[in-house]
Amino acid sequence: MSMKEKIINLSQVDMPKRWYNILPDLPKPLEPPLNPVTKKIVKPEDLQPIFPDALIEQEFSDKPYIDIPEEVLEVYSLWRPTPLVRARNLEKYLGTPAKIYYKNESVSPPGSHKPNTAVAQAYYNKQAGVKRLVTETGAGQWGSALSFASSLFGMECTVYMVKVSYEQKPYRKILINTWGAEIYPSPSERTESGRKILEKDPDSPGSLGIAISEAVEDAAGRKDSNYALGSVLNHVLLHQTVIGLEAKKQLEKAGDYPDVVIGCVGGGSNFAGLSFPFVKDKLDGKDIDIIAVEPTSCPTLTKGLYRYDYGDTAGMTPIMKMFTLGHTFIPPTIHAGGLRYHGMAPIVSLLHKEGIIDAVAYHQNAAFEAGVIFAKTEGILPAPETNHAIRAAIDEALKCKETGEEKTILFNFSGHGFFDLSSYEKYLAGQLKDYEYPEEKIKEAIAELKF
Ligand SMILES: *Cc1c(COP(=O)(O)O)cnc(C)c1O
Repeated sequence: MSMKEKIINLSQVDMPKRWYNILPDLPKPLEPPLNPVTKKIVKPEDLQPIFPDALIEQEFSDKPYIDIPEEVLEVYSLWRPTPLVRARNLEKYLGTPAKIYYKNESVSPPGSHKPNTAVAQAYYNKQAGVKRLVTETGAGQWGSALSFASSLFGMECTVYMVKVSYEQKPYRKILINTWGAEIYPSPSERTESGRKILEKDPDSPGSLGIAISEAVEDAAGRKDSNYALGSVLNHVLLHQTVIGLEAKKQLEKAGDYPDVVIGCVGGGSNFAGLSFPFVKDKLDGKDIDIIAVEPTSCPTLTKGLYRYDYGDTAGMTPIMKMFTLGHTFIPPTIHAGGLRYHGMAPIVSLLHKEGIIDAVAYHQNAAFEAGVIFAKTEGILPAPETNHAIRAAIDEALKCKETGEEKTILFNFSGHGFFDLSSYEKYLAGQLKDYEYPEEKIKEAIAELKF
């Protein structure tokens, strides 16, 4: 064949039928989550007020592979398998000998990787007789994904959206309403946690930590309702591994294997989804660099501490051992709203602690610069979060240009930026601010850590 292959497709019958569970393969066992009230180890039944049994079982499962239910595969088939794309135009523009591949998760209906878990969570909740799902959303991607999934399974959905994003991204709200969900800016007057924050600071921009407190409180207060989390937890990362499992098959078809695997990290789920099947290979002896990319203004892995901390601001969620900036830390209002989380998935945190994965941080202007280069060469406008992964992939490719190494670089294209145009407007007008690493605020929040 003379034409150079650009897109490596997988046929729908070759879609993975199982998720990969990394828990039994970890170099050390995870330290257990603690109950926020008793401080004792969380028992599965402690989670029953907000999660269905099937998801609780996955959260603690020691089975290496878990079957994807038929009904979930059916919904996945609306957009999966997603294309693996060789970014030849970007390679040429950079003049690098490296090969760059990206896994295009932006082709899902809500435009990101998030429905991979939203669909699974809606399915298991529906099976358990739950009628309504409650959640938080940062940039609006998770709220969109859960409202999409809820509508497909005929469930109600309520979304608490971080206030600054609610104002920056009005079109996400319309998308969420179109799929039939209701949405409130957080902090809101609807919950005790929201009212407490508003009392202290009526102009609070909100944060993921605050919105999580509101959603958990709402879900725990109603029998017909459960909570759904879009990142961080083990079962969420599990569902996302369909990305990496597909990518592995696609690279095999292309006769390639990655030297470098890259993903941006908010709570860690898209990074985990792409990388965990390769982390397994690394643990089995393969030589791969696996890099998590975060914003300088919310540098959880690069500047945080590996400690027990709450997953939310009000201290209602289990206490988890993870890299954290302190649950009271409210990150600056950068445009990559999905990366504004004080903590990091416990599994990703452990892998970082053990030196199996690396982490780097970038300012938002450097990230947007990379995103614009990507849009001009490969055509797709990336989400601001995704720009961080692209920045790291470009920098790895530029290192190869210097050394002459022909590395294979794989990154996760976690989502498109069609609902983030106001941030591109600011970037193009030279009005995007780089926030310095908020050292003092982080110190204060870390000083408040109790464990
Ligand atoms: C939510 C989101 C992220 C960050 O969340 P993770 O759980 O770390 O993956 C990254 N990219 C996009 C496009 C998102 O929507």
